[in-house]
Amino acid sequence: MSANPKPKEQEANPWEEYERRKQELPDDLPADERDRLCRMIAGELGIWAMKLCKDKLCLRSGKELDLSQFPKNRNNPDKRCIYCSECSSRRTREYRDRRREKRKAEQLARPEVKVEPKPKVLPEDMVIEAIAHGERTRDGIQRTTELDYDKLGDTLALMTFEEKILRIERLPGGRREFVIAA
Ligand SMILES: [Zn+2]
Repeated sequence: MSANPKPKEQEANPWEEYERRKQELPDDLPADERDRLCRMIAGELGIWAMKLCKDKLCLRSGKELDLSQFPKNRNNPDKRCIYCSECSSRRTREYRDRRREKRKAEQLARPEVKVEPKPKVLPEDMVIEAIAHGERTRDGIQRTTELDYDKLGDTLALMTFEEKILRIERLPGGRREFVIAA
């Protein structure tokens, strides 16, 4: 035991001392005897080396567990996690699964967020629609389509002279009407 010539610079951490002395216990001790000895060592060191798992779902809930049953956590006074190793790994797994589910849900939601571009109504279609509804004069078509003056002029010219979708009928008195070219 004291054969180790390691110099004691500081006061030994009782928890580390407890771990060290526990390591020295024979491997083949029955569990009850091991527990008893552990309590005894802890008592000598003035610490309480058994504790309850804080997890509400703990299968060993209500049972005092040896500190070695708790993963190390240097932030806690006893340098051990508040959850036992079983609960700690379960909690880690659950946390990871939750994150994975969340990421999956986010990825699924993403394409739906994409806004479909609103189909653009072409001015040509608006003009055809107006004519189909009985408008034939430029003024009438403008009232129905609500296209601005220049835009309507360009559209009518395009449809009449380039696309030849429309034809102009000249009426007596110089009036012009637009009809759909046959
Ligand atoms: Zn537990």
